[in-house]
Amino acid sequence: MAYDNNNIFAKILRGEIPAKKIYEDDFAVAFHDISPQAPSHILVIPKGAYESMDDFTAGASPEEIAGLFRALGNVARQEKLDETGYRVISNCGINGGQEVPHLHLHLLGGRRLGRMVQPAA
Ligand code: AMP
Repeated sequence: MAYDNNNIFAKILRGEIPAKKIYEDDFAVAFHDISPQAPSHILVIPKGAYESMDDFTAGASPEEIAGLFRALGNVARQEKLDETGYRVISNCGINGGQEVPHLHLHLLGGRRLGRMVQPAA
């Protein structure tokens, strides 16, 4: 499926809509989730046009892949989440519950997060 240039994170990357940005480098941007599920809920996204972990791992350059994960670690340390621990989640596709079709890593922390996967509703 073709990448949708009008998804909300593409618009944030182009500066067309605001975001509470806390980090940016050559490869990635991080901002606060608009609907936080934990005291700290940050989204880390690559600057490249990738829909999910699937096309990213298949098509991104080694520099882009390293860049995204280095950015994730930089943000975790910047926010001091490394001191108490955190969780990284990337929802991909329908069964993953992905709502925004631009690859994003949820970085969650600030409290004990409980079970990793809730029973299906
Ligand atoms: P996912 O279900 O993994 O695709 O998660 C999408 C996430 O994006 C959700 O946690 C939303 O709360 C978040 N979100 C949607 N729109 C915005 C926005 N404009 N700024 C920040 N976060 C957003």
